[in-house]
Amino acid sequence: MTDFERTRALFHLPEGVVYLDGNSLGPLPLAAKERVALMMTDEWGELLIKGWNKAGWMMMPRRIGDRVGRLIGAAEGTVVMGDTLSIKVYQALASALDLVPERKVILSDSGNFPSDLYMAQGLISSLARGHELRIVDPEEVEAALDETVGVLMLTEVDYRTGRLHDMKVLTKKAHDVGAVAIWDLAHSAGALPVDLAGADADFAVGCTYKYLNGGPGAPAFIYVAPRHADKVKPALSGWLGHEKPFAFDLGYRPGGGIDRMRVGTPPILGLAALDAALDAWDGVDMGALRQKSIALCDLFVSEVERRCPMLTLGSPRDGHKRGSQISFLHEEGYAIMQALIDRGVIGDFRAPDAIRFGFTPLYIGEADVLKAVDILADIMDNRLWDSEQYKQRALVT
Ligand SMILES: *Cc1c(COP(=O)(O)O)cnc(C)c1O
Repeated sequence: MTDFERTRALFHLPEGVVYLDGNSLGPLPLAAKERVALMMTDEWGELLIKGWNKAGWMMMPRRIGDRVGRLIGAAEGTVVMGDTLSIKVYQALASALDLVPERKVILSDSGNFPSDLYMAQGLISSLARGHELRIVDPEEVEAALDETVGVLMLTEVDYRTGRLHDMKVLTKKAHDVGAVAIWDLAHSAGALPVDLAGADADFAVGCTYKYLNGGPGAPAFIYVAPRHADKVKPALSGWLGHEKPFAFDLGYRPGGGIDRMRVGTPPILGLAALDAALDAWDGVDMGALRQKSIALCDLFVSEVERRCPMLTLGSPRDGHKRGSQISFLHEEGYAIMQALIDRGVIGDFRAPDAIRFGFTPLYIGEADVLKAVDILADIMDNRLWDSEQYKQRALVT
């Protein structure tokens, strides 16, 4: 039994706020605040450079990688932390393309997050070896997997709609046509059970500031299947991925296994916050989390549809076919979201017309859902969104 009252008490949730944006930036875990403060005073402050050895800083990317690995079905020693997700996408894609040198097509879908597609476009132009990024509709991916495809690069849960791909089926189909599969778990890790080993994924990447609550700009992770880990060529061959960083050789030799996916000096303050944030997952059963997530999402959908008929569901209706988020569509979505935020219900807006809400059982319950719908219904019934102050677009939406 997972005690979600216990997990909720682990977070700082501002008074009067219903936080439905943990899919974009998780809230502050109280333990992270303490851990970072201690890191600053006792480790950075007192140990100075000795911290790399004495406080185990240098091993943090691997140790914390193993903690994340437990949440995504990855074996010990197959996940490492560092950089941001966009960088990890680039690394995974470059290494994947090297495994299939004769194939030129990277297959992705129009539901992928733009940064993943942009990184692919940048890599293609640097390689200048005639690669093509083929983008199809999410429903067309399976049919588009043919023998021209070298790499299938998908985000499991669509950031805008929440639609969930079948990782196991698509990975198998990719392997059947001789392609390798990269999965972006940005909206999966901490949102639903993931079984990378069971799905036989070749590579996976993800960020830790969304459902894993590591804090703004928290380090990303990369997974390489053990069968590839000692073979893949790292495109970003930084010194900390070298076999012997402190030999200071002039030539690059990749480190063993997942270590070669390290690049430069790890972000220790960010890793400390993440390490503490991950404590919240101790004792959490991912099956129970999934069950509660689906129940919260279903409740939200049925209440919003009942009370706000002018909003159109933009997510799959079947809870098993989506992640842990719900979008509703309305042409005044931006203003509606600003009116919500002004009244303490925080979600976000994704162009062109989606208001998006994340449901995170670690700290969100039924009462929060009902309160959010009350406020949303008031905004819709009384056109409270229809005000100039809610129509000025901010830098971050
Ligand atoms: C959030 C997200 C990103 C963001 O990448 P960063 O480098 O961390 O800014 C990339 N890809 C996907 C699929 C995302 O959901």
